[in-house]
Amino acid sequence: MPEPAKATDDVRKESSMLKQKAMITANHQRLGRAREEGRKVVSTFIPGNLNELLMCFDVVSNLPEANALANGMRRRSGDLIREAERFGHSEDVCTYVKADIGMFLEGNLGPTGEALPTPDLLLLSYTGCFTFMKWFELLRDMYACETKMLHVPYLGDGIVTPSMREYVVRQIKEELIPTLERISGVKFDIDRLREHMRESAKAEEDLVWVLQSARNQPSPIDAFFGGVYYIGPIFTAFRGTPEATDYYAALRHEVEERQAAGMGPITPEGDMGEERYRLVVDGPPAWTHFREFWKMFYDQGAVVVASTYTKVGGVFDFGFRHDPDNPLESLADYCFGCFGNLNMEQRTDIVESYMNDYQADGFLINSVKSCNSYAAGQLLILREIESRTGKPAGFIETDLVDPRYFSAANIRTRLESYFEMIDQKRSVAAA
Ligand code: SF4
Repeated sequence: MPEPAKATDDVRKESSMLKQKAMITANHQRLGRAREEGRKVVSTFIPGNLNELLMCFDVVSNLPEANALANGMRRRSGDLIREAERFGHSEDVCTYVKADIGMFLEGNLGPTGEALPTPDLLLLSYTGCFTFMKWFELLRDMYACETKMLHVPYLGDGIVTPSMREYVVRQIKEELIPTLERISGVKFDIDRLREHMRESAKAEEDLVWVLQSARNQPSPIDAFFGGVYYIGPIFTAFRGTPEATDYYAALRHEVEERQAAGMGPITPEGDMGEERYRLVVDGPPAWTHFREFWKMFYDQGAVVVASTYTKVGGVFDFGFRHDPDNPLESLADYCFGCFGNLNMEQRTDIVESYMNDYQADGFLINSVKSCNSYAAGQLLILREIESRTGKPAGFIETDLVDPRYFSAANIRTRLESYFEMIDQKRSVAAA
C-alpha cells in the first residue's frame, strides 16, 4: 500500500516492494488519464472494497485512504490537514479525512502529482467505521456526484446469519449492480466476476503463506512494517487481477528463499540483525515518520510477527477466500470479515491467537486518537491479552498522517522501557 517517500540509493528494498510501488503508481496514472480515455471513476474505501465487482464494469478505482497515506509518506499531509482545519474541520476528526479534504481544497492533485478526476460514483461499503459515512457525506457535497452505500451489519454477536448475508447480497444485486451498469454502460457478466475471484483466491493464498512465515524463528519478514507493503496490491485496485496473483507468487518466492537461508527481514538499512523481541502490534503505522518509526524497532532487534492493521482490508488467515462458485455471497462474507467490522471479543481472540501461534514476547498497541474505529476498546483488549497470555503489553500513541502527533523522543523512551519490561519478564521466567 505505501510508496516510500523518496527513492534514495541508501534505502534497501525487496524487489517485491519495487513491484508494488510500480503497480500503485500505475493506478494513480490511470486515474490521471481516466477522463481522456473516457473511463468512469469510482471512489471507494479499502475495507470492504468490491474490487472484483468494480472491474467487471471497467471503472478505475480511487481509494481516498491510500491517497492520504501516500501523501503522509511524502510529508505533504501536514499542510493538507492544516488546510482542512482552516476550512473548519476540528482537531479530533480522523486525519485521513482531513488530508483528503485538504487535498481537494488544494487543487486535488494526487500523491504522484496527477490531477484526480471527479468521481462518477462514491461507493461506500460500510464495514464498521462510522467516519466512512461522514467522510463520504462531505465528498458528496464537494463533488456533487452520485453516492451508494452498501450497508454491512456489524458483527455485534460475532456471527453472520443467513439473513444478514442475504441482506447484503440483495443490496449488491438490486442496488449496486444496476447502478454500476448504468454509470459505466457495461452489462454485468457473472462469469467475469468469477474469473476475478479465482485470481483473488490465488493471491490470498500466497499472502497468507507470507504472513504466516513469521511463525518461524527468526521471522523472515516484519509483518507490520514490511507487512503494510505486502498488503498494498490486495487491499487496493489489484485484488482479482493476474498482476496481483503474479506479485504474490513472486513475493512468496522471495520470502521462501529468506526463510530457507534462516534470514530475518530486510529493513531500509539492509538485513536485520539478531531477532531479540517478537511482537504482535495493534493499530496503524505513523506514515509521516514511517522509516524513523521502523528504525526504533529494528535498532533494538524487535520484529513484528503479526499485526492487526494488515487485516483491515480483509482477514484471510483464518480461511476465508473469495469463492468463484458463490461470488455474491462471497463478496458479502468478505465485507463481514474485515477487521473493523469484528466485535471486541473477536478482535481479542485474534490477537491472542497471534500471541500464541507466532510465539510473541509481547503485545504492543500504537493508538491513534483520531481513529475511533481502532482506538475504541483498545485498552480493554490490552488488559485482556495481558491476563490471557501473561505476556507484557505496551502502549504508545502516534497518528496516521498528522506529523504533529509524532514525538520521536517520547516514543523511543516508551519503547525502550517496554523492551526492558520484556527482558525483566524473561529473566524472572528463567530464574
Ligand atoms: S476513523 Fe480510522 S478506520 Fe475510520 S476512516 Fe479514519 S482511519 Fe479509517
